[in-house]
Amino acid sequence: MDAARTQRNAQKLEKIQRIGYSRLGLTPPDYSPDAVRERDAGATAAVRPGGELETYVYETYSRKGIDPAAAQPMLTDVRAAVAQLDRMHQNLPRPERGSPLSHPQHLLILNRQRERLQRLIGTGLPEFVENFSYLEHRVTLDTLPTGELNGRALLPPGENPADPLYWILLDPTFFDFIYFLSNVYASAIDFKALGWLARRFAVGDESVRTTDCIRFGDERPLRDLSDLLQMFVVHGTGPVALRPFEERIFSFAEALRNQAALFVVAHEYGHIIRGDLKAQQSQQAPWLAELGADIVGWRLTNAVLNMEGTSPETRLGGAALFFMGLALLEMTRHELATGEPWNLGNLEAAALSGPKPSDSHPTALTRRARLTHEFESHFPPDQARAAEFIVGLFIDLTNQFWIRLGPNFLVLHQKGQRPKPVWKGYIGVEQGQNVSETPEEAN
Ligand SMILES: [Zn+2]
Repeated sequence: MDAARTQRNAQKLEKIQRIGYSRLGLTPPDYSPDAVRERDAGATAAVRPGGELETYVYETYSRKGIDPAAAQPMLTDVRAAVAQLDRMHQNLPRPERGSPLSHPQHLLILNRQRERLQRLIGTGLPEFVENFSYLEHRVTLDTLPTGELNGRALLPPGENPADPLYWILLDPTFFDFIYFLSNVYASAIDFKALGWLARRFAVGDESVRTTDCIRFGDERPLRDLSDLLQMFVVHGTGPVALRPFEERIFSFAEALRNQAALFVVAHEYGHIIRGDLKAQQSQQAPWLAELGADIVGWRLTNAVLNMEGTSPETRLGGAALFFMGLALLEMTRHELATGEPWNLGNLEAAALSGPKPSDSHPTALTRRARLTHEFESHFPPDQARAAEFIVGLFIDLTNQFWIRLGPNFLVLHQKGQRPKPVWKGYIGVEQGQNVSETPEEAN
């Protein structure tokens, strides 16, 4: 791509991002290196003993007549959480291309998924070679605040359809959301038991229960999940780390979130490869295009995981985690908006009754069911059963979490809390409309 075109593309993208932030009533962030350094230094100073945070907490406690010493365990937790995040961010390479409104870490994660997919050219399979050779310099991966966990594939405004560029954009909150969600699920799973229980289930042992790999009794994942959902649905932002995670879960959690990010990016590549951005919107029901993109996205994900040596029975883990995240958001939004109890059973019933005209994506459970079906039709029965076990575990865990968390959101509804609106401005665009130069008018 020539330099002038690259620059025009970046300008268009920044314009759309600014509109996105203003639509959601958020101030656009500044990720220039100086601003990031200054902010990091400020945050480190704020959590130090005697720093801003401690002063604030002590003052608040004193005002309420509580002994400030009671805040000590909480302050210790916050400091440990900040130190843990700092340790993880140290030594990370900086992405080559900066984007003033996007977190360098997010761009790094996105570009890593693109590299994984581009490596499919090495398989020599004609469909991969053809698609990824063509797309190699055409796709920009970046962030756009939308209030949705789903990504978007877009044709930038004013693109020549004969020689187009594409954007794949994810809400910046996606990264923190999936980071927390994978840690929460990994904290609640006895993953040593998971391996051998899944294998026993795979060979036909019906006495094995998914609940045998759930670590009951630990309140920690529940509190984290509650914070996560409330921050995203009510405030539209990512969670704040108030406590460090147990580091023994990190390799399992990391594997899950890497798979989830790959699947979400591959789904968006699926839209591009299927030609959904060129098709007229009326040609196909949007939610059919979504299911189609899921299938293509899954085939790409599976091919990458196969190339990387991930065993078949664990390959559905990341997609299952992502769909459970979507289901939790759907349930939280529903309860906060209506005050009516809602659960996975209700989502299942809604999935069976078909899409509503207002739905941009099919429900998380429809998508999850289609993917499992696709997996089962391509893998031997024992591998399919093992994969089914892991997906079943994620569903059981989600139910267990929700039995405890759901009632809290009904109380919050009574207290007047409502979900932040999702930015609907571009829904429909994903399936074919061109982004208008004046996106305020596009709907
Ligand atoms: Zn889609």
